[in-house]
Amino acid sequence: MSRQFFVGGNFKMNPNCVADKIALTKLLNEAQLDPSVEVVVSPPFLYLIPLKEIIRKEIQLAAQNCYFKDAGAFTGEISPAQLKDAGIPYVILGHSERRTLFYETSETVALKTKAALASSLSVILCIGETLEQRETGQTTDVCAAQLQAVVDVLKESDWSKIVVAYEPVWAIGTGKVATSKQAQDTHADVRAFLAKAVSPAVAAATRIIYGGSVNKGNCQELAVQPDVDGFLVGGASLKPEFVDIINATV
Ligand code: PGA
Repeated sequence: MSRQFFVGGNFKMNPNCVADKIALTKLLNEAQLDPSVEVVVSPPFLYLIPLKEIIRKEIQLAAQNCYFKDAGAFTGEISPAQLKDAGIPYVILGHSERRTLFYETSETVALKTKAALASSLSVILCIGETLEQRETGQTTDVCAAQLQAVVDVLKESDWSKIVVAYEPVWAIGTGKVATSKQAQDTHADVRAFLAKAVSPAVAAATRIIYGGSVNKGNCQELAVQPDVDGFLVGGASLKPEFVDIINATV
């Protein structure tokens, strides 16, 4: 089964000035991008609509979070229905920074995923282990538990709108990338889990992308791994090398 390569740029709480944002957009708009790759960029909420207006049409937008209710007294939150209404097709959920800094549990991530799908959004669902969990041999179990919470609330058909992002916490923003073997082994485990917990068809069709210090120098070796279907890129998505990462399979 061939799965379309997917590259997401997670800008996090950057860039912090309009000039940088425009420069980044100009770079992407003028670059030669592999047309077979699905590309999604994820700026802070405030910039989603302006960026959508100036970025080339092939590049889609993702929010970095959403709440699990459609409307109401939830100060500071943005709902899946509002993202849908603004024409934003994707949302990143369960990023490790949300899980650790903002205390999101796997159950909360599952509720958000269900709500996002109910509003017809697609979800980039992040999972991954800490260094201590890797060193004590818990990587497979941690990823499975994070996914199980989502499996518990979804129907099989919902999975067609989910991209799973495997992001080892120890590799995020640290410059310490997983080896291609570590990435491939974990991606294969995640796919095996989906086959068992959801269905073999869903496991074969679901894109499992890698995130954690992906850059121009390491993307090609990671991209050729059979179970690596793309990347979620943080720091390097704010730099010209994001273009090289998008074109990693050319
Ligand atoms: P990084 O971040 O590429 O800066 O390590 C990846 C992510 O957090 O999605």
